[in-house]
Formats: sequence, C-alpha cells, structure tokens
Amino acid sequence: EQRFHLPHLTDVYADAMSYPSTFCLRMRTPVNEDFADGYPSDEKWHGYINNNDRVLLKVIRYSSPTSAGAECIDPNCTWVEQWVHRAGPREKIYYKPENVKAAIVTCGGLCPGLNDVIRQIVITLEIYGVKNIVGIPFGYRGFGKELAEMPLSRKVVQNVHLSGGSLLGVSRGGPNVSEIVDSMEERGINMLFVLGGNGTHAGANAIHDECRKRQLKVAVVGVPKTIDNDILLMDKTFGFDTAVEEAQRAINSAYIEAHSAYRGIGIVKLMGRSSGFIAMQASLASGQIDVCLIPEVPFHLHGPHGVLRHLKYLLETKGSAVVCVAEGAGQNFLEKTNAKDASGNIVFGDIGVHIQQETKKYFKDIGDPADVKYIDPTYMIRACRANASDGILCTVLGQNAVHGAFAGYSGITVGICNTHYVYLPIPEVISYPKVLDPNSRMWHRCLTSTGQPDFV
Ligand code: ATP
Ligand code: MG
Repeated sequence: EQRFHLPHLTDVYADAMSYPSTFCLRMRTPVNEDFADGYPSDEKWHGYINNNDRVLLKVIRYSSPTSAGAECIDPNCTWVEQWVHRAGPREKIYYKPENVKAAIVTCGGLCPGLNDVIRQIVITLEIYGVKNIVGIPFGYRGFGKELAEMPLSRKVVQNVHLSGGSLLGVSRGGPNVSEIVDSMEERGINMLFVLGGNGTHAGANAIHDECRKRQLKVAVVGVPKTIDNDILLMDKTFGFDTAVEEAQRAINSAYIEAHSAYRGIGIVKLMGRSSGFIAMQASLASGQIDVCLIPEVPFHLHGPHGVLRHLKYLLETKGSAVVCVAEGAGQNFLEKTNAKDASGNIVFGDIGVHIQQETKKYFKDIGDPADVKYIDPTYMIRACRANASDGILCTVLGQNAVHGAFAGYSGITVGICNTHYVYLPIPEVISYPKVLDPNSRMWHRCLTSTGQPDFV
C-alpha cells in the first residue's frame, strides 16, 4: 500500500500503483467494532449496499497539465481516479433499534431544507424500529441544562417540510465538546445527527473523537448544511438550488427598479462568505447581471479599470446596470472591526452598502447622479422552503444519514458526489471551504454572459 500526499485528501491510499492512479477516501472506524458481525437488518430496503461499494468521484483525463480547468495532482500523471464510499442501507447493522436513543440537532444559520432533512431522519429511524427520537433545541446550546429536548415522531414531523426554518431552532456558540458529551451520556443518546456547516461539523468531529476517547458506542453523523455550496468534493449541498432560484427573484426586482429609473443602478448582495457560487449561478440563471463580484476574484472600485468606471459606461450605453456581489467579496475595502459572532466566526463588513455608497458618491462627484438601489435578500432566501430539487436531495441525505449510523459509522457526513450518494469522513470535507476556480470554464461562461471586463 503506497501512500500519497494529496493537498486536499489527507487520508488516502492507492489501490493501484500503476497509472491511471487510483485514490480512495478511507471510512472512519465503525463505532461498534466489538460486534464484528453486526445484527441482520430486519427491514427490507429493496436491496442493500455492500460496504466495499465505491463511487467514482472523478476521472479527468487531460492532454496536457496546463489544460484549462484541469487540476493536476501529479504532473507526470494525466489520469487520476478518486473513489468514495457509497451510501445506503447495509445488510448488517450495529445497533438494536430498541436500544437506540437518537437525537437531532441543527446549528449555525438557517438554510432551506433543514425541516426536510429532520423529517426524513425521523421517518427512517421509525422504519428501523427506533421509538426514542428527540430533537435538541437551538443547536448545541440545547445540550445545556435549561432547555428540554423535543420528542419527535412521524406525527410531529409529518408536515414540517411545508415551511422553511428549523423546527428545532438554531444557534451559534454553546457548551464545549466535553460538556456536550457529558450531556449525551446523561441523556443516553447513542445516535447523534448533526445538521450544520463547517463549524457544526468541526463540533461533530470533536464530539465523535470525545466519544471514542470515552469508549462510548455513539454514532455521530453529519448532514452538511451550507447554502454557499462551499463543501469540498460534493456536487452541491442542500438549499443551494433554492437559494439560486430565490436570488434570481431579487435580481429581477433590482433589474426592474434599475431599468425603470433614470440612470438606475441596482445592487444585489448575495450569500457567499468565501465562495461566489450563489452569485455566479444566480447571475448565469438570471441573465440580468452586468457585473458579478465574488470573493475569489480581486477587483478595484475606483480607477480607469474599476467597477465604477464600467458602471458609467453602462449608464451611457444601456441606460441602467445591475451589480451582483457576494458577501465575502471586496472585504479589503472595508475597515476590519475584529468583531466575532458567538461561534468565533469573523463578522464581515457590508460590501453591498459600501458599493452603494461609493457608487452614489462617484456619480454625484462627476456631476451626473445615478439612482442607486440596494437589495439584500439574504434572510428572505435563508428562510425559504426548499424547492423540489432540494426537497429530493434532503430526502435522500436524511435517509442515508440514518443508514450510515445503523451501519456503525461515526464521524462521517453524507453527500452527493458525481451524482451518487456517498459517505465521507468529516475531516476531509471541512479542512477548508470549496471555492470557485477563477480559471474554470463556468466562471468564464459567467463573464461572457455579463460582458464585464477585468477590474484590476
Ligand atoms: P453556517 O454555515 O451557518 O455558518 P456553521 O455550522 O459553520 O454554519 P457556526 O456558527 O460556525 O455555524 O458553528 C455552529 C456550532 O458549531 C456552534 O454552536 C459552534 O460553537 C460550534 N463550533 C464551531 N466551530 C467549532 C469547533 N472547531 N469545535 C467545536 N465546535 C465548534
Ligand atoms: Mg460556518
């Protein structure tokens, strides 16, 4: 077994030594390894998934290491395969349903689809025969003493997906990992389903480690919740599709406002702390954006090649303009406050407001004012109900989270990779956020669509 060091896969092994190279993401240790044979699963899941099943994550074949969009891991190798573990029900399970107490917790910010995932986890647990299912209220905070757990059943969750938000409530901050595990021990929780972003998953991973340290037979399974779609290796995360669809509505309103005004400029700020996927996709989908600004691509506002000069040109030639900016873009223009939220995340300055003010000032200073309107649809988007495509994604992820726990896996998260549903070890997917590649074909398609120049 030859080990390779890859920049973005920390624990991989080569299945084959010859080219094409093959890499596989290792699963975390099953939690009940002392019951090596497991119990036969009573349920009929219309076929089981073998533990050795793999999903091909990607095969890229490039004719030269410099091909556009090609990610060259080894310059001597032009063909790389990466494999991950297939998700789904296993024939042998490592918990007796009557001994399970399952808990679900949702942390971080809201994202369309949270209720859909909660609902499917509860329904699937009940099909396995689990009777004791609880919701932890308000994120990890709910592990404190003062908040009571919420009993969950199919009856309770039947219609929760019809509205946005989280039935359980969300929060940032809360007790430390050791206190959380103390509380889980006290409550007798042996399956924990954690819905949240990178912070929540870091927490879930730490809870998994602490449970292993204390030799508790607890399965900790995550479902990645990030509206920004910034999780490594995954095709997309739930809520992203809905966010793009809703963002389009905000862009359309900004377009109508700008188009109907004399020298109108619309500015829309969208989510995306470190990656501009929502801004790019919404710009591509709407076809109404003239300037798309994302965290991955530096830009100037002022100067001969700045955004403002381009807006002047657009007003002269088209009469109006619409700008879409991701929240993490252009943070270098804003004064650093060092403010942090309860989870320790840096609070960003408002780039949307900054661009609005600079735009107003610029056109006033040149003696030809513009009518600038700013829309920040963030909270309207986050609170939406999941659309059809996200509803389906949530359903499959929720079901697979439960199958993963029953299969005895812990410290894992579920996702969709290369159109297949898979289990991934948490540390591999949260080591850093997935960002948009400014050299990718998709970003260049976006630039072609907006017609914007480089702003540097
Ligand atoms: P969002 O995408 O909405 O920001 P998130 O999961 O990243 O979601 P955070 O507020 O960063 O949201 O974290 C959620 C929870 O995870 C908080 O309760 C926080 O205390 C906890 N948490 C964050 N980072 C860690 C960590 N490194 N170890 C343990 N717990 C953590
Ligand atoms: Mg986060």
